[in-house]
Amino acid sequence: MLVSATKMLQDAVKGKYAVGQFNINNLEWTKAILQTAQENNSPVILGVSEGAGKYMTGMKTVAAMVKAMIEDLNITVPVALHLDHGSYDACLKCIDAGFSSVMFDGSHFPIEENVQKTTELVNICHSKGISIEAEVGSIGGEEDGVIGAGEVADPEECKKIADLGVDFLAAGIGNIHGKYPENWKGLDFDALGATKKLIGDLPLVLHGGTGIPADMIKTAISLGVAKINVNTECQLYFQAATRKYIEEGKDLIGKGFDPRKILAPGFEAIKEIVKEKMELFGSIDKA
Ligand SMILES: [Zn+2]
Repeated sequence: MLVSATKMLQDAVKGKYAVGQFNINNLEWTKAILQTAQENNSPVILGVSEGAGKYMTGMKTVAAMVKAMIEDLNITVPVALHLDHGSYDACLKCIDAGFSSVMFDGSHFPIEENVQKTTELVNICHSKGISIEAEVGSIGGEEDGVIGAGEVADPEECKKIADLGVDFLAAGIGNIHGKYPENWKGLDFDALGATKKLIGDLPLVLHGGTGIPADMIKTAISLGVAKINVNTECQLYFQAATRKYIEEGKDLIGKGFDPRKILAPGFEAIKEIVKEKMELFGSIDKA
């Protein structure tokens, strides 16, 4: 069932668990994530970056595929189709294409401009029943060419953006995209706590979920994080499983060259890591 992410994340805050956002790249990823959510009775958010959207030929294709797949696979758990780190224009495109949720990443703008653009998009989204995520304090690492330094967001700025009526908020707390470096200092729970105090029950979003230790994830959830984005980890699992298939020469045996066979181990690997994350986040049986 395609829904906005508003209620599923409000429920998560109340129930002290988090819903995973897993980014999709193609049909196999989408199917693996949807099936895992259904099998585990978990709500789920499918994340689509602008780059992945372009790769899949455009946001209309993505929305049509996801909607049809939900129907064909009889997916009854709540599913949100969410633009990840969107520009203003990409948000408009996804709203038109039929996404149920968008993230406007105005973190690289001066706060006044972030406020103005976020306000406009909040109004458009809410007039159509679409949820909207905003970001304060750029998330470290690289996301589609935007490089952030892992800033810690100012709680007062978070409050300012929260008050615009966004449905959930990504606040940088030292988290970064991609693999974490050896000398990473960990999440800044003081900043998270200070932000939580100012924004109350508004769901918080943790980007860069790959490689954050389980105990930090649990602490973050206890402090109001209700959405955790996982992207790189699925990619690494897919890669390792695909590499193993080829290295074991399975593509050379019988009909092992069949693309459906080549992609199968990676598909299963995505299912495995998505389930593991749902267990860690506590979203199983919360649909
Ligand atoms: Zn992100």
